Amino acid sequence: MKCPFCGRDNTRVVDSRPVEDTNSIRRRRMCESCGKRFTTYEKVETIPLSVIKKDQSREPYSRSKVQDGILRACYKRPIPVEKIEEIMDSIEGEIFDRADREISSNQIGEIVMEHLQALDAVAYVRFASVYREFKDVSTFMEELKKFMEP
Ligand SMILES: [Zn+2]
Repeated sequence: MKCPFCGRDNTRVVDSRPVEDTNSIRRRRMCESCGKRFTTYEKVETIPLSVIKKDQSREPYSRSKVQDGILRACYKRPIPVEKIEEIMDSIEGEIFDRADREISSNQIGEIVMEHLQALDAVAYVRFASVYREFKDVSTFMEELKKFMEP
């Protein structure tokens, strides 16, 4: 994509996110030549984004599904709602950066885990234990159970 300021074809995407209700994706781009930033809106002409599940079946990507998993993991943790919304936005940005038309549920899980790990240890382990069999950290889990019991 050409930079609207200097005309050179040397831009990179710094942030992507879907625009609610419009089937388009907003991308922030930065020109590597002149350093200026600009925004583009790209219409999604095809099926927005498919998630490949473990059994290889596909379903449409759903923000609320990802968010539900995060909220479940953060249940009763001392995490402000704004913080959750914030990581939800960066997680979604990353999903749309990495995915072209399809992304596996595993990849989404990995992205979510990366963000939860930095946010809250208990939320991270809760989420991870759902997403993959966490044999290697069973001792870690035992340790965290103390905090997880109501
Ligand atoms: Zn430029």
